[in-house]
Amino acid sequence: RANVKKITTGSQALDGLLGGGIETRTMTELFGEFGSGKTQICHQVSVNVQLPPEKGGLSGKALYIDTEGTFRTERIKAMASAIGLDPKEVLQNIMSIRAINTDHQIAIVEELQDIIARDESIKLIVVDSVTSHFRAEYSGRENLAVRQQKLNRHLHQLVRLAEIYDLAVIVTNQVMARPDMFYGDPTVAVGGHTLYHVPGIRVQIKKSRGNRRIARMVDAPHLPEGEVVFSITNTGIRD
Ligand code: ATP
Ligand code: MG
Repeated sequence: RANVKKITTGSQALDGLLGGGIETRTMTELFGEFGSGKTQICHQVSVNVQLPPEKGGLSGKALYIDTEGTFRTERIKAMASAIGLDPKEVLQNIMSIRAINTDHQIAIVEELQDIIARDESIKLIVVDSVTSHFRAEYSGRENLAVRQQKLNRHLHQLVRLAEIYDLAVIVTNQVMARPDMFYGDPTVAVGGHTLYHVPGIRVQIKKSRGNRRIARMVDAPHLPEGEVVFSITNTGIRD
């Protein structure tokens, strides 16, 4: 685990849970129900990665693969201004790519190798959400095996990029409040555990009162399990 770098989330509590922030050379999965704040964290980290190291960033750029059409330039600008960065510049350093289906999503990640090799200032890849197209296109038990095989391959490619280029990967995974409804679906966290076997860090995000959220570390190999509270404010992710 030598040379791992961290990107601040904007919340000291959440950074603490993560052992200092979102790590490079690793894939971090954020899972939780709708509105829990997965996309907000992805936006915030895409901004924060651009901060200099002394402020919790990597002076890097972000690649944002948006599968649900929820990437918001206005939100990025607001988050940038709030921490004293130039909103226009910050936006220019986030390449957002809309993935329209699983094949497109897979093809984008396959092409990333070349993009990153040409521009090693890319220090973050976001896939928000990594599972939605897969679920929609391969619904039903009879398609589960093929779906898992494709998804696992896709996730392993992301992990490899993280390791080769010393960058952070964040993927999101929407999980219903009642996972029992999805029993038998291995991409759904049953009892808090996503069942696919890809190395990385998994964090569950849960709604609390108002703008408060709870983040829980799940199955981390090198981090203690635990829970912290953070907030989603109009300026971004905060304590
Ligand atoms: P889904 O699974 O549906 O994609 P998600 O986990 O990605 O959900 P987010 O979109 O990240 O959820 O979170 C949405 C929540 O973030 C809103 O319900 C609101 O509470 C908060 N939020 C979003 N924008 C702002 C803002 N500008 N100011 C304050 N809070 C905001
Ligand atoms: Mg979202």
